This record gives sequence, structure tokens and C-alpha cells, in this order.
Amino acid sequence: MPSCQDIREYLPFYADDEIPAAVRPRVEAHLAECLACQREADSYRSLRNELRDFKHSQANESPSPAVWEGAVAGWNRWEQGRRRVAQARFAIVGLSLFLLLFGGAWAWYFAPTDFPLSVVIADYQRIAKEGAHPQLETPDADRAASWLREKTGAEVAPINLSLLGGRLEGASVLSHGRFKVGRLTYRTSAGLLALYVAPRQGEFENAPSYAAEGQSFFAPQTHSPITLLGWSQSGAGMGLAGTAEAKTLGRFALAARKARSPLD
Ligand SMILES: [Zn+2]
Repeated sequence: MPSCQDIREYLPFYADDEIPAAVRPRVEAHLAECLACQREADSYRSLRNELRDFKHSQANESPSPAVWEGAVAGWNRWEQGRRRVAQARFAIVGLSLFLLLFGGAWAWYFAPTDFPLSVVIADYQRIAKEGAHPQLETPDADRAASWLREKTGAEVAPINLSLLGGRLEGASVLSHGRFKVGRLTYRTSAGLLALYVAPRQGEFENAPSYAAEGQSFFAPQTHSPITLLGWSQSGAGMGLAGTAEAKTLGRFALAARKARSPLD
């Protein structure tokens, strides 16, 4: 008769119907006789079902803080299970199942917080050639800002560059993976400028800085004729892209950065 400890190693697999066929009869024979292991198996099965139901109820929604709390609670229960058995293998099985069920929340939580520079540069290259064709065509900065707030969840202030002779074309939302980046495009004396708003991605790691009138901007290397000046605002990454030199672009970036949301 195998010991409880031998059997328990297989219970997470058993709960998930992924137990090797060769082992199944031994596990079932033991479970038929051992109440303690039965309870252990039942608790894995109900936890598994709970996590699955939870996942289905959240399907295709972007994870909310509640999802993350649920995921943490699930993880803590796995942790307790792991401690009971105290085997590394158990932890791996638990972690795999957790990642399988909650990959979305996990990806969201550990999402890069770096500004999505390559996405933005590729987008700017495309619109410089083909035109921006905004999803919302409007010269109205308030309207564009509230549209972007609604679409991306980022706190976007109405940004009007008309004092510098710029005209707002409109707003768009780009998707990259699970993330959304808002884009406002302007026709200006310095050519087409695009202001990108990346919610939660306000870090410009290792980017050199550029100072304009006492304000400091990030000026990452773009390896192209495109200049980008970036800053962080309420956790969101803001990046103004254009083909003008940094000094010219800096005047527009300063104006954009001075804009404040009426909610501030
Ligand atoms: Zn047992």
C-alpha cells in the first residue's frame, strides 16, 4: 500500500484529470480507503472548479483589481496546499495551474511599465507616410480628451496646440497586445506631430534627458529620423513624436505638458 505522501504528490494532477494512466489505479485504490486523502483530493477539485468558474466569468474582460484580488486569494490557497505537502514539485504544479487559469491577470500585473517606444515609432512612421486618419476626427481638444479618457482609461487633459499654430486632427486608439495607446495628431508648422498616451506605461528606462525651459523630458534614441520627447503624467507615459529637431519639438512638448485636465 503506497503511503499518503506518495499519493498526495499526484492529487493536483488527479483533480485536473491529468494523472498518468499508469498511476491512476493506485491513487484511486488509496482514495477508496483513505478519508484524509479523499478530503485533500476534493479540496483540490473544488478549488480548481472555483478558479475555472471565476475565469469564465471574467472572460475577455480586461482584468479589474477584483480579478487580481481573486487571483491572490487563489494563490494563497495553493500556497497553503503546497506547505501541507512541502514538495517542490507540488509548487510547480500549483504554479502552472495558476498561470494557466490566471495568465491574463498575471500578464496584466507584470505588464511592462516602460513606454512602448517601438510601437509608437512604428506607428508614427506609418502615419507620416499614409496620414493619420483619426478614428475620431475633431479639432476640439476637450472632445478628443474625453473620448481618449473613455477609450484608454488614462487621464488625458485637453491638449490644444493652437497657440503654436497647431491644429488638432483627431484621436485614435492603437492596440498592442492587451494594451491600448491613445494618439492625438496635430498639423503644425513643424509638420505632423503625434502625441501618444500609454496608460500605466510611464517609465522611460535609461533614456537620455532633454531640458527645455527648465523642464526635463526623456529623449529616447529612436534609430530613425523621428524625435520623441516623453514624460510621465499620472502614471501614464506621454510621448510627442515628430520629425522636427528636439529644440522645435520641445516647444510643442512644453505646451502639451502644461495642459491640465479639468478634473485635476
Ligand atoms: Zn491517504
